[in-house]
Amino acid sequence: MNSKAIILLSGGLDSLVALGYAYKEYGIDFALTFDYGQKAAENEIEASKKIAEYYNIKHKIIRLDWLKEITNTALVADLPVPDTNLGTSESAKQVWVPNRNGLFLNIAAAYADSYGYNYIIYGANKDEGKTFSDNTETFRAEVSKVFETSTLVHPKVIAPLINFTKNDIVKIAMENSIPLELVRSCYNSGKKHCGVCESCIHLKQALIANHGERYINILFE
Ligand SMILES: [Zn+2]
Repeated sequence: MNSKAIILLSGGLDSLVALGYAYKEYGIDFALTFDYGQKAAENEIEASKKIAEYYNIKHKIIRLDWLKEITNTALVADLPVPDTNLGTSESAKQVWVPNRNGLFLNIAAAYADSYGYNYIIYGANKDEGKTFSDNTETFRAEVSKVFETSTLVHPKVIAPLINFTKNDIVKIAMENSIPLELVRSCYNSGKKHCGVCESCIHLKQALIANHGERYINILFE
């Protein structure tokens, strides 16, 4: 049986590189992007569209307008996105979207079950796994296990970057000619990356560590 995979594509660094790194191996031909009322939704959707076009895969945007109504996080509410460094539990808590990956993976599993996809790929990584439990190997393995009984097709959840840090991920992108100029990793809604939110700070650091200054000029204000 040919392998067929869905990717959760936010347009951010991790999902872009997970796609570029794994699309041949797993046969990724379909990307799902979620609009859950996050401040950066418009930019993320635009970036995801360009990325899906670049890789010539199908793309669907799923609106979860109601997520905003049942959660409270700086990414969707009228709270400012914190400028502080990842790792402080307070700032991490403010950008935590309750059960986000659990929800998104379950929606992807419904697609997989309907259309016969064997794999669901998402961009969990080592740095975020330290703060966010839905980026860990434990979570990945447990969700995969649930799909053995909650679906008929039993899609496996794959996180190709789970053992890699942001620095490693930028390195992989450069070594594999993954189009970093298409990335949209900022939590805020400006035209370009703000450069001060947690996500921007970490992207910038990883680009500098890998001599990727040319991308800083393209992406940041
Ligand atoms: Zn930013």
